[in-house]
Amino acid sequence: MQEYLKRLVQLQQTDSAILEKRRFIDKVPLRIHEVDEPLSQAKVELEKISQKASALAKKKKERESALGDIQEKISKMKSRASDLKTNKEYQAHLKEIEASEKEIGAVEEQILMLMEEMESVGNEVADREMSVKAEEEKIQALRKELDAEVSRLDQELTVLKEERAKIVAQLEPEIYATYLTLLKRSNGMALVRADHEVCLGCNMNIPPQLFVEIRKNEDLIQCPQCHRILYYEEEGSVGQA
Ligand SMILES: [Zn+2]
Repeated sequence: MQEYLKRLVQLQQTDSAILEKRRFIDKVPLRIHEVDEPLSQAKVELEKISQKASALAKKKKERESALGDIQEKISKMKSRASDLKTNKEYQAHLKEIEASEKEIGAVEEQILMLMEEMESVGNEVADREMSVKAEEEKIQALRKELDAEVSRLDQELTVLKEERAKIVAQLEPEIYATYLTLLKRSNGMALVRADHEVCLGCNMNIPPQLFVEIRKNEDLIQCPQCHRILYYEEEGSVGQA
């Protein structure tokens, strides 16, 4: 195989490795966003139930204050008992007290029901808080894992870029320019193998006469369909693409 073709094979291997690592790094925000979604959902649920809990607490406070008002009203009425002159007045007074005491019973009942509801809502709040915490921990763990992975890949990328520069320095500028144009246009694969009269970049057939030329691994030959540079891997050759 021609020396420049060997270098192109090396370059393509290096670029494929670089691309693979970059793609992983580029996907990191998306992967974090994916686990962000259950957390936002858990927070929304917690907010909803917390609002319900504070509404119940407010209601209970109102009922307790109403209870106090009625109790005050009763004790005032009771203190007036000595002012009453007739039996009729006294009967009316007793009825009034009785009605207010009934009201107290009803309000106390309401308070009790509110307390029961508050207890179950309180449990739900605690559950939701735990869900939020669990989701936050999950994200933290993932971030930590991805951060470690990204810094490892960054180091590998630095090495690969150095290797790449060395290969590029050994290539004819024109050949490199062709390669680079194809790399950008062909989804990161500028150079592919031809095998059994097929281009392994686009899977189209290669005319037999052209395939004979490709097998020689001498000239820079591009696929008639996808224009990628083609090479042939000789039996027992170590170059893998
Ligand atoms: Zn092709």
